[in-house]
Amino acid sequence: MTTTTQEHQCDVLVIGSGAAGLSLALRLAPTHRVIVLSKGPLSEGATLYAQGGIAAVFDEQDSVESHVEDTQIAGGGICDTDVVDFIARNAKDCVQWLIDGGVPFDQEDSDDETPRYHLTREGGHSHRRILHTADATGMAVQNSLQDNVRQHPNITLLERHNALDIITRKKVGLGGLIMC
Ligand SMILES: Cc1cc2nc3c(=O)[nH]c(=O)nc-3n(C[C@H](O)[C@H](O)[C@H](O)COP(=O)(O)OP(=O)(O)OC[C@H]3O[C@@H](n4cnc5c(N)ncnc54)[C@H](O)[C@@H]3O)c2cc1C
Repeated sequence: MTTTTQEHQCDVLVIGSGAAGLSLALRLAPTHRVIVLSKGPLSEGATLYAQGGIAAVFDEQDSVESHVEDTQIAGGGICDTDVVDFIARNAKDCVQWLIDGGVPFDQEDSDDETPRYHLTREGGHSHRRILHTADATGMAVQNSLQDNVRQHPNITLLERHNALDIITRKKVGLGGLIMC
């Protein structure tokens, strides 16, 4: 059996190519050289299979406070309040970022040019606040993020590369990763 060793250089290594990894890569790519690893095909992860949609306060009758309260109740009161608050407060901007990146969330007819997103109401939510793309929201998000990372000159994608171990050498400020 022959083994080959390849060396890659980057400013930021992102392990994982789901919604989290690809969003982070796209956010960093304007100022950093980014490598994204995925242990299987780029699309293979939980994101692709997510169906229902993403919660964010888009309805005028809804509020961030209500989203926080619903989340705390659904979490049995043990969720970190700062984290829940941060996510609920930033959800709309993050969903808007996905929309701007091309995710085709379902819309309703609108009287003017302003898009009106179709919102569903899922268990635990007291308001309609779930944006979705039919019943394949994760696939729509994954496909859009993939299209965008593939086009970015500062992002290198290494599919079927499994991260095994991270080596840190604090004294000389170097880091490394063993992968196969
Ligand atoms: C069936 C289903 C339905 C869902 N429905 C919803 C929903 O309606 N709404 C909602 O908000 N959430 C839903 N979720 C949850 C949601 O999909 C996840 O919370 C979200 O996709 C997680 O994104 P992620 O990027 O963190 O992980 P993932 O999308 O799972 O990505 C993980 C990545 O890590 C990579 N990886 C892992 N280990 C290694 C390694 N050692 N080396 C290299 N790469 C590695 C994988 O290859 C993959 O690319 C659902 C989940 C499932 C499974």
